[in-house]
Amino acid sequence: MALSVSDLPQDAAVPAAPVNRAADVPENAVEIENLVKVYRTDRGRTKRALDGVSLTVRRGELFGLLGPNGAGKSTLINIMAGLVNKTSGRVRIWDIDIDQDPRGSRAAIGVVPQELNLDPFFTPRELLDVQAGLYGVPKAERRTEEILHAVGLADKANAYSRTLSGGMRRRLLVAKALVHAPPVLVLDEPTAGVDVELRQHLWAYVRELNARGTTVLLTTHYLEEAEELCDRIAIINHGRLVALDTKAGLLARVDSKTLRVTVDRDIDAVPSALARFAPVHEGGRRLVFRYEPSRTRIDELLDAIRGSGFGIVDLSTEESDLEDIFLELTRRSGDHAAEDAA
Ligand code: ADP
Ligand code: MG
Repeated sequence: MALSVSDLPQDAAVPAAPVNRAADVPENAVEIENLVKVYRTDRGRTKRALDGVSLTVRRGELFGLLGPNGAGKSTLINIMAGLVNKTSGRVRIWDIDIDQDPRGSRAAIGVVPQELNLDPFFTPRELLDVQAGLYGVPKAERRTEEILHAVGLADKANAYSRTLSGGMRRRLLVAKALVHAPPVLVLDEPTAGVDVELRQHLWAYVRELNARGTTVLLTTHYLEEAEELCDRIAIINHGRLVALDTKAGLLARVDSKTLRVTVDRDIDAVPSALARFAPVHEGGRRLVFRYEPSRTRIDELLDAIRGSGFGIVDLSTEESDLEDIFLELTRRSGDHAAEDAA
C-alpha cells in the first residue's frame, strides 16, 4: 500500500509552518485602504473627516502622521483602535482586519490618546492592573513594575493619579498602552502641551521602544517632532493624504532654493538684466533670489549678476526645509475643504 502524505506524522510531512509564522510577524504593521469617515454633526450636517486615506506602516517603523489641527489624525487613530466606527474602507492591524476580528486587532495595538483621560482615584499601579485585567493578561505575565520603571513612574506607583503632574500623566498613559505588550504602539500628539524637557524624555523613550521592536505610529502637528523621530512621514490635510515619504524624499520634492548675494556696491534698483530672476532687494547691497534648481543653474544666476556690473562679495544658499514643504503641501491641498451639506 502506498504511503499517503496524511499517514505521515505532521512534522515529517510538512515543513515548519511558514504560513503561520508569517502571520505572526507580518510585513506591514498597519494597512489602511481608502478609509472614509463621515461624522454626523448637529443640524443635520455632515463632516467628511477622512476622505479616502490609504497608507501602510511597515513593521518596525517609527512612522509619523503629520497634519494641522482638524486634519483627521485622531479620527484615523481612533478607527484603528476601535473607538470610532469608520464609514468605509479597510483597516488591518498586524494582519488582522478590524471588521473581521475586532478583538484581535485591538489586542495588537496600544493607543496613547490625545486627551489626558485618567481616573483620578486610581494609582498608577492599580490603573495598570485594571488595564491588564481588561486585556486578559494573566497575573503571572503582567509587567506592571517593569513598565512603571520604564516610564519613570516607579516611585509614584502608589500615588493617586490626580496628584501627578501633566507630564507624569502622559507617561502613565503610555504605560497603560503598553500593558498588553502590543506590537503596534500609537501615540496621538504625545507631546502636545508638554514642556521641552519632558518632550526629550518621551522622545528618547519612544525611540527605545522602537529600537526594541515595537512599531510606532505617532501623530503630531509639530513638524519638529516628525522630523526628529520618524523614518517616514505621511502628511494629511482635510482628511486626505497629501504626501508620504522619508524626510529626505519630502525635502527632495521641493524644487526651491534661496541664494543670498552681497555685491560690491549699493543697489539703487534691481538691474533689468536680473529682472527675469525676480530677486528681492533686501536693502543695502543684498539681493535674494528664490530659484528652482531644476530650471536655473546657480552659475547662470552668478553670471547674470556679474554681467550687470556687480562684483560678488559674499553669498550663501539655503535649502528648503520641511516647514516649507509642509506649508506648500497643506496650502496646495487646502482648496477642497470638506464640509458637506447633508
Ligand atoms: P486632528 O486630530 O487631525 O486634529 P480630528 O480627527 O480630531 O483631527 O478631526 C477631524 C475633523 O473631524 C475636524 O474637523 C473635527 O472637527 C471633526 N470631528 C472630529 N470628531 C468629531 C465628532 N465626534 N463629530 C463631528 N465632527 C468631528
Ligand atoms: Mg487630534
